[in-house]
Amino acid sequence: MARTQVAIIGAGPSGLLLSQLLHQHGVDSVVLERRSREYVAGRIRAGVLEQGTVDLLVQANAGERMLNERLVHDGFALGFAGKSFRVDLRGLTGNAVSVYGQTEVTKDLMETRIAAGARLIFEAHDVSVEGFDRAHPTVHYSHGGRTHTLTCDFIAGCDGYHGVCRQSIPTEAMQSFERIYPFGWLGILADVPPPAHELIYSNHERGFALCSMRSVHRSRYYVQCGLDEKLEAWPDVRIWDELRRRLPASVADAVVTGPSVEKSIAPLRSFVVEPLKFGRLFLVGDAGHIVPPTGAKGLNLAAADVRVLYRALAEYYRTGREELIDGYSAQCLRRIWKAVRFSWWFTSITHKFSEDPFSRRMQLAELDYLTGSSAALTSVAENYVGLPFENPPI
Ligand SMILES: Cc1cc2nc3c(=O)[nH]c(=O)nc-3n(C[C@H](O)[C@H](O)[C@H](O)COP(=O)(O)OP(=O)(O)OC[C@H]3O[C@@H](n4cnc5c(N)ncnc54)[C@H](O)[C@@H]3O)c2cc1C
Repeated sequence: MARTQVAIIGAGPSGLLLSQLLHQHGVDSVVLERRSREYVAGRIRAGVLEQGTVDLLVQANAGERMLNERLVHDGFALGFAGKSFRVDLRGLTGNAVSVYGQTEVTKDLMETRIAAGARLIFEAHDVSVEGFDRAHPTVHYSHGGRTHTLTCDFIAGCDGYHGVCRQSIPTEAMQSFERIYPFGWLGILADVPPPAHELIYSNHERGFALCSMRSVHRSRYYVQCGLDEKLEAWPDVRIWDELRRRLPASVADAVVTGPSVEKSIAPLRSFVVEPLKFGRLFLVGDAGHIVPPTGAKGLNLAAADVRVLYRALAEYYRTGREELIDGYSAQCLRRIWKAVRFSWWFTSITHKFSEDPFSRRMQLAELDYLTGSSAALTSVAENYVGLPFENPPI
């Protein structure tokens, strides 16, 4: 029977980053991932990194390419009522955000782990976790046509919203909080230059639109769509037309169109489970919480959980003390709920929820107030760049 100190389920950004930081502190782990390495490395998702996430990736020795290739954004724009208003993140907070795709973060982490000789097991099927209320939990899985058992001291559930770890916890032991939004995001990725250097979040009476990017040559756009929309109903030309209609004219004129590289529809939800620790099982990242992508917090929250957990486990293996481990859930949840609040609020002022004219006037009044108040803008900016951490890195 194989053994490790920490069994990590899932090789997304949280699983890989946790494995690397533990390795740097002399803690052994095995990562079990149900998908192939190529699939995980090609998955297209988030793109905006807070400085705290950048710092953690650098600390993990996985930040070199990111520091060379990232786009540093000192602000973003809010489009509404036909105008575009710049939120000066640097001027308001002294901080900026970095645009660097999650796909690239994952590739960098994977290469760093593989170079360090990590035990990463891709295409591990039928993963099940048990005994996390005892000193030595076990993980069962099948791989290469054989079944395997791994014993460990701790299990880190880094297996995303649909993973097995949260589902293995008795429902009476946890409380879930959820808000499902009545719309989704239709995303298009294309190898065309973005219309501006920074992101543009646009509130429009037809629905929300976002101009984002992965590099100066690759743009990522989103338009709010109905939950029952099918991708087949959205040929590229329809997306480009709809996008331009929802942007301020000056921005719409600068949009360069081209064939899509990828298209997808994602539902929007806010979700948190409490607590995030059950005996010797921890929920990390999307396994424990989801935010709508407005505000770009999902990946950054996952990194923030990892930051708390690797410190707690490193401290446990160094001293035998369990205070940090026991405090994992409470410490993470304080940051998570603030990010859930920000993402929910940002979604609520930028998206179309109904045809109700009163709600529309409220949104426009809020945007008008926001862009005219340095106090309100500072609040937005400090949430967007990422709230400060309580503890320095170790
Ligand atoms: C379509 C989409 C678009 C997104 N866009 C944005 C965005 O623009 N901005 C933003 O901030 N965030 C965005 N997010 C959120 C962001 O990508 C996530 O917050 C981030 O991926 C969380 O990382 P994670 O490692 O916790 O989970 P994941 O990235 O979901 O990784 C979980 C891993 O676990 C594996 N796994 C699942 N079940 C099992 C199992 N039973 N056994 C073994 N392995 C398993 C999965 O294959 C996966 O590799 C988006 C998410 C999605 C789904």
